[in-house]
Amino acid sequence: MRNELTRRGFVRSAAVGSAALAWLRVGPARSALAAQPGKPAALGGSPAHAGGWPDWPEWRQSWEPEIIDVLRSGKWCCSGGGGQVEQFEAAWAGLLGAKGCVATASGTTALITALHVAGVDAGDEVIVSPYTFIATYNAVLTHKALPVLADTDPETLTMDPASIESRITERTRAIVPVHIYGMPCDMDPINAIAKKHNLAVVEDACQAWLAEYKGRKCGTLGDLGCFSFQNSKHIPSGEGGAITGNRAELLDRCQAYHNCGRSYGTFKGTANFTRSSNFRLTHIQAAMLLQQIDKLQTDTELRQRNADYLTTALQEISGIHTVRLPENSRAAWHRYAFRYDPAEFRGMPRDKFIRALRAEGVPAGDGYREQYYDGLLDEAIASRGFQRLFPAERLRAYRESFRELRGNKEVCETNVGFSQNVLLAERTDIDHIVDAIRRIQMHSAALMA
Ligand SMILES: *Cc1c(COP(=O)(O)O)cnc(C)c1O
Repeated sequence: MRNELTRRGFVRSAAVGSAALAWLRVGPARSALAAQPGKPAALGGSPAHAGGWPDWPEWRQSWEPEIIDVLRSGKWCCSGGGGQVEQFEAAWAGLLGAKGCVATASGTTALITALHVAGVDAGDEVIVSPYTFIATYNAVLTHKALPVLADTDPETLTMDPASIESRITERTRAIVPVHIYGMPCDMDPINAIAKKHNLAVVEDACQAWLAEYKGRKCGTLGDLGCFSFQNSKHIPSGEGGAITGNRAELLDRCQAYHNCGRSYGTFKGTANFTRSSNFRLTHIQAAMLLQQIDKLQTDTELRQRNADYLTTALQEISGIHTVRLPENSRAAWHRYAFRYDPAEFRGMPRDKFIRALRAEGVPAGDGYREQYYDGLLDEAIASRGFQRLFPAERLRAYRESFRELRGNKEVCETNVGFSQNVLLAERTDIDHIVDAIRRIQMHSAALMA
């Protein structure tokens, strides 16, 4: 219906000129008057977008003096000894409004550390979002604990709070909500369930730098929050990570665990008295991160403005289901994603839609797969360790429970998106994305022939 209205309202214009596209910029009420979409590139038209997209990551020469100072100082590590790592920890905690921060070697090692401090041990169970980068599963498996998969809410792409309680057993120790693509999970019900069942909450905020849930930053909403600064992330140092939190006792234990077990703050003792590891960040990486904090803030605002604009335009297109965020929340948009309904595109399969978008110059792709069928979890539950730690009946039921993940399956089958650098482009470039989708829809019969 919406589509018909849109079609009737098209300005009859041979060229998809920028003057016609300017209608789109007026707002949702006027966008029904958008230009007649041009011929799709897949049918020989010229691409909706020809100019490329911003590169990622970005380097600025102005950052170099501070980093070269670190190189020349010979003090390239370590945590606990002041320097850039401590400066970054203070800056990151301050930016997020957290009591403290522990810098780590990666997002994965941040998660491993936080789960240990949250009390996760061999033979435990941890409830996680299935729709995530595989490191979330692996951090749990590293502890020889079982990652029990909650379902995904197709409207939000994040953990469906209603699917958590039925998955709690006497072995459950923690919940790991993932703010996937930088979109905040609905944390209030998740925290309420955790409190009721005495479980820890470790946020996987590895894609959610500066994202906000009801006015508070992701990574400060549970017991501990984990970030990644890997090369593809919004504030990259090649590799790197951080844990944030509001309880000194937990943070001090994170410091100890990631620093070979050395005592820290309220966590007293001598080296080698507690199980631990070496997951430290270097001062060189911390110096890179310190230089990028201002950029992260301005980039985040730009991504948010462009994402809001794009969402408003895409909501006018039938068959494109934009994501619903929790109220009073801001996403960080590591990826811009929506659900695609082939029925509104004359049955065009998702793969073909993605190929047509790429032909238009929009670097679209699908999202995460149903990775619980990829073999990793089968390998884990078949391993000697897991066979010793869990009753066979539990492992069998666990494997069978993947079939209950209907919301997640739907998301895996319908998700389309593109990576964050696209949202750093000019607004007229964002218009090209909308134009590309409209073209494909209008010409879907010809594209399917
Ligand atoms: C990147 C990422 C991680 C892991 O971070 P690394 O720094 O690559 O170890 C964990 N979870 C999510 C959701 C991520 O995107």
